[in-house]
Amino acid sequence: MGDAERVLRDVFGFADFRPSQGEVVDHVLGGGDVMVVMPTGSGKSLCYQVPSIAREGTGIVISPLIALMRDQVEDLRERGVSAAALNSTLSPEGQRAVEERLLAGELDLLYVAPERLVTPRFRALLDEVEPALFAIDEAHCVSQWGHDFRPEYLELSFLRERFPWVPRLTLTATADRRTRAEIADRLLRSDALHVVTGFDRPNIRYLVGLDDGSAREQLLRFIEERHAGETGIVYCLSRRMVEDVTTWLRDRGVTALPYHAGMPAEDRDANQQRFRREDGIVIVATIAFGMGIDKPDVRFVAHLSLPSSLEAYYQETGRAGRDGLPSEAWMRYGLADVVQQRRFVDRSDADEEHKRLELRRLESLLGYCETTGCRRRVLLAHFDDPRDEDCGNCDNCLEPQETRDATEEARMALSCVYRTGQRFGTGYVIAVLLGRDDERIHRNGHDEVSTFGIGRATDEATWKAVLRQLIARGELATTEHDGLRLTESGVTLMRGEGTLSLGRRATPSVRAADGRARGAAARGGTRPADALDATQRARFERLREVRRLLAQEQGVPAFVVLDDAALATMARDVPRDAAGLLRVPGIGRVKLERYGEAFLDVLREERPPEE
Ligand code: ADP
Ligand code: ZN
Repeated sequence: MGDAERVLRDVFGFADFRPSQGEVVDHVLGGGDVMVVMPTGSGKSLCYQVPSIAREGTGIVISPLIALMRDQVEDLRERGVSAAALNSTLSPEGQRAVEERLLAGELDLLYVAPERLVTPRFRALLDEVEPALFAIDEAHCVSQWGHDFRPEYLELSFLRERFPWVPRLTLTATADRRTRAEIADRLLRSDALHVVTGFDRPNIRYLVGLDDGSAREQLLRFIEERHAGETGIVYCLSRRMVEDVTTWLRDRGVTALPYHAGMPAEDRDANQQRFRREDGIVIVATIAFGMGIDKPDVRFVAHLSLPSSLEAYYQETGRAGRDGLPSEAWMRYGLADVVQQRRFVDRSDADEEHKRLELRRLESLLGYCETTGCRRRVLLAHFDDPRDEDCGNCDNCLEPQETRDATEEARMALSCVYRTGQRFGTGYVIAVLLGRDDERIHRNGHDEVSTFGIGRATDEATWKAVLRQLIARGELATTEHDGLRLTESGVTLMRGEGTLSLGRRATPSVRAADGRARGAAARGGTRPADALDATQRARFERLREVRRLLAQEQGVPAFVVLDDAALATMARDVPRDAAGLLRVPGIGRVKLERYGEAFLDVLREERPPEE
């Protein structure tokens, strides 16, 4: 067994490297540079942690995310690894203490913020020590084209000149071709190994549905039926919505905490801390929440309104299930969301080129939401990672939607927008289609137009679906006063060219939607403990309680003691001695020493599992 394997087993408690990890670690131990592009939850941190421990000297990890540094340092210390972080939260004395430990060669890993790494003081310090490696996390921040560009990242190129013999790794979860080229060019040797795995997060189940006005009730049911007592994130569009939803959920017994940029910083930090440390907190947040959250056991991410793009959706839902256990991405959206997003684009003062890009972004997002096919395939295709097969783990795979032709309805709707002068919003257009007895319609004389009442045979929900589709596909755009107007392609479709089809779910009755959700739930649960039977499940809960107490005692987050996957394995296998515990993934030597007895006490009271 090599040094790396020994570290993996003794310190981290894992039997084998995942294939891409093994490749990276080998190359770094051989002194080479590596670019790592792997999705969240694939185990990027081990790629530099293991070689840092196995090699002489200190591994220097550059990360812009303070919360993430703190989590990793805590986790490593729990495993008996000597690790520290240098960032703006340290006092001057604290900083000096860390520097001294670095100089004394006592640190296996040192986490540094990029702006600190490039200071003359830190560079001088670096000259005095022997770095084991440099790991540059969130490496896409070096891209001047990207949305996360950080100028300090450009300065990191000095590492290459000053320490050509020290291996470097760059790590990121998202980098398109251009960004990868920039990373390679600025931060790595030309002969660096590139390890780029796909974007898929197979353990995340995608569930997307309509907000028919009952999104909150649907969310509550989703939490109660599928994620009771588990950790989750609920994303909302506005601060007000965050406050409302938090209160609403709390009143119904969910442990919900708010998070948004308008709150006092102390309250916000306190809520983030509780979310991090405690088990089973649901945080209700605007998109301000999330950067640097690497809590591994987030079991669901819910969107109560549309995210801003498919990229944002991937990133936000990606915070679920870092531990690789089944997790769910749940979303509800409605016609109003679609109109609002379309309005953002129509009203933006960007130049034409940019507007076209924004429009394409919106079309991709809505295309994903409205698809009747496998959602994962749509999502991955968007990231240039196409798949030939349906995933079997999204709502459309679990409960295939039939589609039907709705071209005739689409033409009626477009024609109605046209006949009423292309100035009215969705509600009005639908009222005319349905021939409603409405004061405004009479006043405008629209009970006289040919499309008045033309759509009586179709229900309101279907009309909403038709309009969503037409907006999603760009056949309808918004006017300055929130009305709808036809685009060129809208005119073409109205005149008879092209088709439109709708999924069955275009007209969901609340009850039907319910039945479907339950059907999917019955077919295969998604919770880590779902694979457990009732006895094992009860044991899992007892172990969870022990973990809670240990975490409290140590003042660390519960997942730092042990993650859910380890607890589930213990609940299933019921190890009764140290050797048995060591076979549980995630339990290494130090954890065994620290916590083994506490867990064994519980397990020994149990009957052995039946063969
Ligand atoms: P990333 O940084 O890529 O998002 P992490 O490094 O946080 O991923 O790892 C994700 C999860 O996978 C963690 O819970 C970690 O314990 C687990 N993990 C990583 N490597 C292995 C391995 N070789 N065997 C088993 N589990 C692993
Ligand atoms: Zn699918």
